[in-house]
Amino acid sequence: MSQKSTAFDTAVPRDYQHFFDGTPAAPRGGDMIERRNPANGQLTARFARGSRPDVDLAVASARRAFDTGPWPWMSGPERAAILRQVAAGIEAATQRLALIDSQESGKTLGTAQADLEGAMAHFRFAASLAETERSDAWTGAATDLTAYSVHEPVGVVALIIPWNFPALILAQKLAYALAAGCTVVAKPSEFTSGSALEIADICRRSGVPGGVVNVVTGFGPDVGMPLVSHPGVDAVSFTGSTVTGRAVAAAAGNGIKRVSLELGGKGANVVFADADLEQAADAAVFAAMVNNGECCVAGSRIIVERSVEKEFVDLLGERLERVVVGDPLDPSTDIGPMIHDGHLRKVLDYIERGRQGGATLACGGNRTAGGGREEGWYVEPTLFSGVQAGSAIFQEEIFGPVVTSTTFNTADEAVALANDTPYGLANAVWTSNVATALTTSRALRSGTVWVNTFLDGTPAIPFGGVRDSGFGRETGQEGLREFTALKTVQIRTGVRDYPIPSR
Ligand code: NAD
Repeated sequence: MSQKSTAFDTAVPRDYQHFFDGTPAAPRGGDMIERRNPANGQLTARFARGSRPDVDLAVASARRAFDTGPWPWMSGPERAAILRQVAAGIEAATQRLALIDSQESGKTLGTAQADLEGAMAHFRFAASLAETERSDAWTGAATDLTAYSVHEPVGVVALIIPWNFPALILAQKLAYALAAGCTVVAKPSEFTSGSALEIADICRRSGVPGGVVNVVTGFGPDVGMPLVSHPGVDAVSFTGSTVTGRAVAAAAGNGIKRVSLELGGKGANVVFADADLEQAADAAVFAAMVNNGECCVAGSRIIVERSVEKEFVDLLGERLERVVVGDPLDPSTDIGPMIHDGHLRKVLDYIERGRQGGATLACGGNRTAGGGREEGWYVEPTLFSGVQAGSAIFQEEIFGPVVTSTTFNTADEAVALANDTPYGLANAVWTSNVATALTTSRALRSGTVWVNTFLDGTPAIPFGGVRDSGFGRETGQEGLREFTALKTVQIRTGVRDYPIPSR
């Protein structure tokens, strides 16, 4: 089987349909969503505009595949072999998939390629989980009772995906759901649906049986909500904004469905005076600018010890001036455009609020042409210093290339500032003192704390949030467990003495 899939003419828009039962399916209503490239405003793709009847068909396909097998009944090694084929298929199609994600989201081609490396790593790691799955046994509880547990696939799962990491976040869910033996209906973002549909087809070509992976495209209220509340769906894995996550959690709760939520963030980079400031500044720029700043784990708040604040802000400013904003397909570009014009306006509005709120604009602050492309939705890398904890730019997720700096005097103050938002996704600590690293990382309220590094990890390490950043974990063994339900089997080999006598 050849998985080779080449790049394409980026000037020609691609047309996509839904994907049910292993084949493309036209939308019942016949409408399409037009997606324009955020770098230049040109039409790049058309996606099926789904509605409830499409969701019904997608769920019916996944339901049949789950209820009649063979996927949930296959052995771990059989599923693992297919998942490795999927990874190989993604590898062969990397150039094409990266171009698609870049054109639809505005992320740089380099970031899109890194996302696909991550996606492959998740499929390979999930394969290893599938073939090493094990559970507990209770053999000593009573002399004639043996019990064991089984991690069974939870059933049909809905995977709802945001636009900022279309292929990577799909893989963080899909690989583990498939490893567990579930069948899936994925709903990608209406802005970036191409790679999910292509990966669904790669799954089919890799040996995943028809109906196991289904994709239905469209808007959240038309497709996402009917999917979450569909009686044929057993569990929901959602990544997106906290506002949408609340509605999804309420609907899933109403249906007594398992739900995991990966939501927004407002990460802090806590920089102590004893840190390697050059290294911390390099990481802080990456942390705030990665994926155009449109990143849930962005380290968008610098919380720096007062004695080194000026030095650190200068180091940041120098580096941010060198960040290249421009065409996402140009290899020299560091950050591309915002996802759409409404989001561009939102980011510029936050910058304006920062200016008016009394913070010092240390660099950036404007819309930019982005390498001469007047028509793109580009923002300059922006740094505010002297930012107050109560201000909107400190508290709210901006989701753009904007970073704030706030000072502290004591470690307690640093922790209080870092914890002073409703979010709890990921924070970082920079220090050369082990005791400071340990006590601070313990006190930070977030699902991840990085020490002297940022955005690190491997598929084996679980990821997720606390507080308004959600609950549940992706990746690692825990990521697989989100898609399994525990069954215990108890076998009595002797004759039991019942307390109520039979007559
Ligand atoms: P969003 O909440 O607008 O949309 C996410 C997905 O939900 C999309 O597919 C959308 O169509 C769908 N949706 C929208 N309304 C819905 C509804 N009523 N019911 C069901 N589904 C609905 O988020 P976004 O703008 O696509 O993504 C950005 C957000 O995602 C940011 O807040 C970011 O922090 C967050 N995010 C979190 C993580 C994480 O791992 N914690 C990762 C990436 C992004």
